[in-house]
Amino acid sequence: MQKLEQIYEGKAKKVFATDNPDYVIVSYKDDATAFNGLKKGTIAGKGVINNKMSNMMMEMLEKKGVPTHYVEQLSDRDTVVKKVEIVPLEVIVRNVAAGSFSKRYGVAEGTELAIPTIEFSYKNDELGDPLINTYHALALRLATKEEIDEIKRLAFAVNDALKEFFKSLGIDLIDFKLEFGRFHGQIVLADEISPDTCRFWEAGTWDTTKHVSLDKDRFRRDLGGVEDAYQEIIKRIMGK
Ligand code: UDP
Repeated sequence: MQKLEQIYEGKAKKVFATDNPDYVIVSYKDDATAFNGLKKGTIAGKGVINNKMSNMMMEMLEKKGVPTHYVEQLSDRDTVVKKVEIVPLEVIVRNVAAGSFSKRYGVAEGTELAIPTIEFSYKNDELGDPLINTYHALALRLATKEEIDEIKRLAFAVNDALKEFFKSLGIDLIDFKLEFGRFHGQIVLADEISPDTCRFWEAGTWDTTKHVSLDKDRFRRDLGGVEDAYQEIIKRIMGK
């Protein structure tokens, strides 16, 4: 597979064309941003960890019947993925209250939710990714009813698989963000699954006020030990 010209640069990844029109190469950077780009920094080694981890998660999910964009890892930072048209919705699944959910509804972080929940944000940096309901998503033609139903079904299937997997590593999956794309008419899981996009808490600490974050909250909230948290996650995954 030949790596051709760069076609896009995002906050955490670059995307390159290949000699196959159906495939692109994503290249993971160490750059980190938070609060819609207001906070910027680097997390040494993050790109290598997120690349490896996301690919392993996608392979596991494929085995469980979730179609993904993953094709093949090329190197520490580079992976071949299917060239999808991203559905402009950020899909957030939650098991335990944290972050914006806690703030919006005035519920303490670490409160277990009665059922896993799903919500959508409209992927639009200028607008700051506002929360959107499915009627508005349909009204704005962001996706069809069938696509949204499929996205919901797959998002909860991903939650079931990831929750169980991380539990076995002594990690509670609090919440996470997914993105989906269209590939030859099919909805497939795209983007990444990593400590950038998931909240991972040391097992058993979620129902206390002193939960231990092993994810990007260490960067967002200036908790220190950012690199160590990413290393710890990949170490436990590789040890499986
Ligand atoms: N998240 C993300 N990208 C975003 C916003 C959120 O990956 O632009 C992830 C975040 O890491 C967390 C989950 O989605 O695992 C829920 O985030 P929340 O809505 O609570 O927002 P935050 O508190 O991070 O602003």
